[in-house]
Amino acid sequence: MADRIFRVNMTDLTTSVEDVPEAWAGHGGRGLTSTIVAAEVIPTCHPLGANNKIVFAPGLLSGTVAANSGRLSIGAKSPLTGTIKEANAGGTAAALLARAGCKALIIEGLPKEDKWYSLALTPEGVTINEETELIGKGNFAVVEALSQRLDGKPGLITIGQAGEMKMSSANVSIKDPDGNLRSSGRGGLGAVMGSKKVKFISIDPKDGKVAIAKPEEFKAANRVFAKALVDHPVSQALGQYGTNVLVNIINESGGLPTRNFTQGQFAGHDSISGETMHDTIEQRGGKVKHNCHPGCVIQCSQVYNDLGGKKMTSGFEYESIWAMGADCCVDDLDKIAEADRIMDDIGVDTIETSVAMGVAMEAGVLPFGDGAGVCRILREEIGKGTGLGRIIGNGAGSVGRAFGVTRVPVVKNQAIPAYDPRAIKGIGITYATSTQGADHTMGYTIATNILNVGGKVDPLTKEGQVELSRNLQIATAAIDSTGMCLFIAFAALDDEKCLPALIDLLNARFDISLTGDDVVSLGKYILKTEKAFNTAAGFTAVDDRLPEFFYNEALPPHNVVFDFSGAEIDTFWDF
Ligand code: SF4
Repeated sequence: MADRIFRVNMTDLTTSVEDVPEAWAGHGGRGLTSTIVAAEVIPTCHPLGANNKIVFAPGLLSGTVAANSGRLSIGAKSPLTGTIKEANAGGTAAALLARAGCKALIIEGLPKEDKWYSLALTPEGVTINEETELIGKGNFAVVEALSQRLDGKPGLITIGQAGEMKMSSANVSIKDPDGNLRSSGRGGLGAVMGSKKVKFISIDPKDGKVAIAKPEEFKAANRVFAKALVDHPVSQALGQYGTNVLVNIINESGGLPTRNFTQGQFAGHDSISGETMHDTIEQRGGKVKHNCHPGCVIQCSQVYNDLGGKKMTSGFEYESIWAMGADCCVDDLDKIAEADRIMDDIGVDTIETSVAMGVAMEAGVLPFGDGAGVCRILREEIGKGTGLGRIIGNGAGSVGRAFGVTRVPVVKNQAIPAYDPRAIKGIGITYATSTQGADHTMGYTIATNILNVGGKVDPLTKEGQVELSRNLQIATAAIDSTGMCLFIAFAALDDEKCLPALIDLLNARFDISLTGDDVVSLGKYILKTEKAFNTAAGFTAVDDRLPEFFYNEALPPHNVVFDFSGAEIDTFWDF
């Protein structure tokens, strides 16, 4: 069955299945969500209003056996940043959508009545059902209830209470093969889904399969590709220690933002490190290796148990642990895991919410290091939508404005993640110039600044940082179109067989003849499409800047500031 576009109009509660327009045919994942949002969403619209649309698109290789190809891209105009947004995550939904013949699902309009709905997607199309039982429930309760109601088989995309309340930190959760959650965290896309009053989407591809034009060539390319992934030392470290292997590495570099970005090292780093976490997981019978979707050969998505051996959280990532740990000065991994579970349940971005907590701590709302207080606020204030909960649930910028804090680490109102741009300057260029607000995944210069992957660019000097960020942002935009997990980038940068094998996979899947230059052109097209949307929405070069304190406050231990001029930052777009 040919891929098609599935469209849902929530205003008149109608659905349709459409042929794919020629201009969209070569796109998938982020390339497709950004193309559709740019084509169909009025850039100046209110993100929570009738003119915004939310788009779900599997990658070009999703649903195949290609290693690590199960990322789902979700796109819209962001209520947090006001820019175009794409956030991608693992889980089973991307593969199931692809197998259902769905190239993209577009949800548009707003319901006329104050009712909630769910969507059921099969190869025949989408059915809209009124939902009452699960409204007001957290993501874990939704997954558990639906595994019984729907016989456990379909893929699920859900929002928690934060999405229902349209908070700007609300994420969209995707069920993984074991009923755990993965999150499209950034930019408040859960609020857009909530504005359309869609609580969850189930996906049942029936016996649908993804067609491969040249199966033997596809299999051969996948063998080379998967081998390159498993052979790379960073992949092996991720499989052993999870992404949290980075705590000690970034702390050592002096770029671990601590105490609301006032220091670059955290005294309690050992207590929250990947090494400590690995030993704790082993002692308690958790899972050191776990894949967030079938076919992942890296398996970084660890399962963390409590003292009694019961699962607390999974996909317990470095950025979440850093944010609640070093940034909020909580040095208790169990407390951070508890906070992570609550955030997954109520459906908020762990980075945005934890950085917002750090700003709230600076404002005196609660003391630094108060992990119990964090959990109480998450449960009782954000989860229940109190006044304080809505201030924090709308992100770090919201807290800064409400309490008059001047050290607010955001770009385009999105919280800066786990790498201080004063001590790791390449990532500062990514934060400033990303089309989507501060986001390390848009151009992960840590690879080359810190991990010596793809060469070495000194993190403390300005030389080569703009070029590094530009090259990585272009490559990332293209990778985000394939459905590949970003962690393939380490092998792609270092192993000369990896990227050609990825291109071979695409060529065998579609019987085309893409070259490396085509992939670079695709990345450039995506960035320029996103940039044009933002310009039409009113963004200018002045928005591509870091907050003032990064230029004025020296960061210990290196005592460095972010020292790029506006003109230097703007050269990023010279391509
Ligand atoms: S490497 Fe980690 S994030 Fe990537 S697909 Fe595997 S488990 Fe998911």
